[in-house]
Amino acid sequence: MGQHIVIVGAGPVGLTAAMRLAHFGIPSTVLEAGTEFADDLRASTFHPPTLDMLAAYGLAQPLIDQGLISRQWQIRMHESQERVVFDLGVLADDTDHPYRLQCEQSRLVRLLAARLQDTPEVTLHMGCRVTAVSQDADSVTAHATTADGEIMAISGRLLIAADGARSPVREHLGLTMRGETYPETTILATTRFPFEDHLEGLSNVNYVWTRAGTYSLLRLPSLWRCSLYPDADESIEQALQPEAIERKLQRIVPRDRPYEVMETRPYRVHRKIVDDFRHGRVLLAGDAAHINSPSGGMGMNGGIHDAFALTAAIHAMGNSNDLSALDGYSRSRRPIAADEILGQAHENRTRMQERDIERRRATFSALQTVVSDPDTLRTHLLRSSMITGLRRADELARA
Ligand SMILES: Cc1cc2nc3c(=O)[nH]c(=O)nc-3n(C[C@H](O)[C@H](O)[C@H](O)COP(=O)(O)OP(=O)(O)OC[C@H]3O[C@@H](n4cnc5c(N)ncnc54)[C@H](O)[C@@H]3O)c2cc1C
Repeated sequence: MGQHIVIVGAGPVGLTAAMRLAHFGIPSTVLEAGTEFADDLRASTFHPPTLDMLAAYGLAQPLIDQGLISRQWQIRMHESQERVVFDLGVLADDTDHPYRLQCEQSRLVRLLAARLQDTPEVTLHMGCRVTAVSQDADSVTAHATTADGEIMAISGRLLIAADGARSPVREHLGLTMRGETYPETTILATTRFPFEDHLEGLSNVNYVWTRAGTYSLLRLPSLWRCSLYPDADESIEQALQPEAIERKLQRIVPRDRPYEVMETRPYRVHRKIVDDFRHGRVLLAGDAAHINSPSGGMGMNGGIHDAFALTAAIHAMGNSNDLSALDGYSRSRRPIAADEILGQAHENRTRMQERDIERRRATFSALQTVVSDPDTLRTHLLRSSMITGLRRADELARA
């Protein structure tokens, strides 16, 4: 078995972990339940430090080639078109990529998968659903069923659970996530309508307050992604009807023709985290360990940061069988996930859900003050761009 590591889940986190382990010469087997890589529209924002990390493996430029470089993002008042614009140019001395990249996470997954195809240290089994995990003093085993119904057992020195928010591995171990599910349901609708030609000064990432509520507009190379919310008197089923989506899009930019909506999808948002990222030989990473509101675009980015930290810890452990050598991973990443990722996502979600006009105005003015001073803006953007969290994680790992 040697150093062999089992990875459950071929999402961005599992595949990043496999790539990094291979870089350190550590073999791994990735078990993925899907027969194809997930193509659904999820993460669309890559933050600067994630691009810095991927650049070391030649993966940032191919992503940049497929995405939109977005130096600015904004919080906006729909009716008055007033806006607070955050310009990441102030981070030029802190990162090689002082911008957000708007690009689908499925593109990173495909780039990673292509890379791993030519990587002898990595074996990837698609259509292989892990149903149970067992561990003893020397090894951990994933029990899985293939798409043909074949039963498999794959053992390794360690197992990385990168199997997403519902994490069957986490469930099998009986680990609960603490936290809450927010009451609102978000409706994601995509359209090719060029909002940028109709709303003055729009950035590629826009969080918008309207008199009646809130929406966001996130741009990808070929479409806009709109996050909409049911009206007060609407059920989710009603809000998902094409005429209800149309009504909400018409409120953003009224036009005499209907919108062409490519895709709609409702989703619930959570703020949840496990108590410890290590359970014996099982290490949790990404959504399996922590889930947060997409507001601020941090879930996938944070999961990739987990994968980098965990693989560094595994590499540093060498051939030792002392599992406590991996405790630094949970010690350094869990507080960052709790405070910086779940915490900031909660602040962002709460800010945009605010309905009180006075409180909104006070927040808006405070943010205008932030962007008016380069030092304050830099401090703000270091945090929202996840650099502050990574610096703190480094300090915690060394402590
Ligand atoms: C609408 C939306 C927008 C978002 N926007 C952003 C954003 O802009 N920026 C950002 O950083 N994050 C964003 N996120 C969050 C981001 O999508 C997740 O954090 C990210 O997908 C987590 O990656 P992961 O690899 O941990 O899990 P996943 O991507 O969920 O991958 C888990 C993999 O495990 C596999 N699996 C599950 N069970 C098993 C099993 N039993 N056996 C084998 N394999 C299994 C699954 O098939 C899947 O391929 C968004 C999420 C949503 C829903």
